[in-house]
Amino acid sequence: MFSYNDIINSKLLQSSFYTLSQNKEGIYFEYLPTDFNEMIEQNMIYESEEFSLLLNLFGLDITSEKLPFSEIRKLLFIDKEEDETGELDLDESDFDLTKDTKNFISSYLKLFKDLTEVYPILYILFGNVWTILRYLVCKEGLYDGKYKIDFDSASNAYVNLYNDIRYILTHREQMKQELLDIFNISSEYKVKLPTSEIALIYQAYNQNRGYDLILNELNPYIKDAENQLLNSWEDIIKILPSKLNEELSFPTCDSLTKFVKQMVQVLIHKEQTLRKCKNCDRFFVARYSSLAEYCTRKVTGTKQACQEYASKKIYKKKQAENPLYQVFTTYYNRIYGRIRRGSLDKDTTLLDDIKLLHQEFSSKYDTSNDSESKEKIIESFIIEADKLLS
Ligand SMILES: [Zn+2]
Repeated sequence: MFSYNDIINSKLLQSSFYTLSQNKEGIYFEYLPTDFNEMIEQNMIYESEEFSLLLNLFGLDITSEKLPFSEIRKLLFIDKEEDETGELDLDESDFDLTKDTKNFISSYLKLFKDLTEVYPILYILFGNVWTILRYLVCKEGLYDGKYKIDFDSASNAYVNLYNDIRYILTHREQMKQELLDIFNISSEYKVKLPTSEIALIYQAYNQNRGYDLILNELNPYIKDAENQLLNSWEDIIKILPSKLNEELSFPTCDSLTKFVKQMVQVLIHKEQTLRKCKNCDRFFVARYSSLAEYCTRKVTGTKQACQEYASKKIYKKKQAENPLYQVFTTYYNRIYGRIRRGSLDKDTTLLDDIKLLHQEFSSKYDTSNDSESKEKIIESFIIEADKLLS
């Protein structure tokens, strides 16, 4: 995968696209077979939990970036001055890159592979990348099979790649801010409103202030199956009953821009929020009404998820602040020390005895309300513990 051989392969890479179904997301490559009698081949290249690619794209799942996102600029090897909305005027000489096409392709794919390891959503670009690189080998006479790529297809693929990359590079920061504004702030301040309503309030607020939103299609119900805006308010109301409880369906998601916009609609449709895990500081997705404060990722170096890890830590901290527990640990350590030094038999039951005694007293201790009776419980614990040790 992602080698020179993949470019001169007998199959034709027709497209690369993202799908989401039953809480799993994946990126697929679709190949035309060499033999027309065979079926179209769809290979899953990447799979993860839903929304993990979205969090990753905006650096919301990690605290440090191994490779800056801006490096994707290097995938554009033909320099143009136009910004992302400008029409590219490419001609064949733009693709006269180097005498050593094979070497160029190998290092280009190496960069592509390095980028996808940190930002796997970039696999979605491979359809266009492949078409461009296949054109290069055709142009240099290095491929002579059935599926040749002509200049028009290559320049079309390059325009798509260029616009998509330029758009995301220019707007990534603002998109991230909008994502956090809509999906995070309300849960941070414990505002329990459905996400779809927060989104509409946010849109109305910004329109009123005259601010342009990038993610301005915040209502998943105003679009038809082709992702086009519905024409009239009446049409929206008519389709609403069938849309409310239905899975959202989208046209093929084959670019970064489409991906972000579609994911925003899915988050709204599912009434989900973005939260920052109180243990690891990485963001996770939860329903707006849920009380979850921790993510389900594994804590490095343990087999526990953040949730489990944090509740144990809180328990230990509470125990450490508990005076009865402190007295108990003094006795426990004293017994343990005697066993270690050999002044107590290692088969002694004293460690278990003191634990039992503590259990017995702590239920009394936890249920008593005033500090005076708490003091008394500690005093009688000390008397009992001294008896054990004498
Ligand atoms: Zn976490």
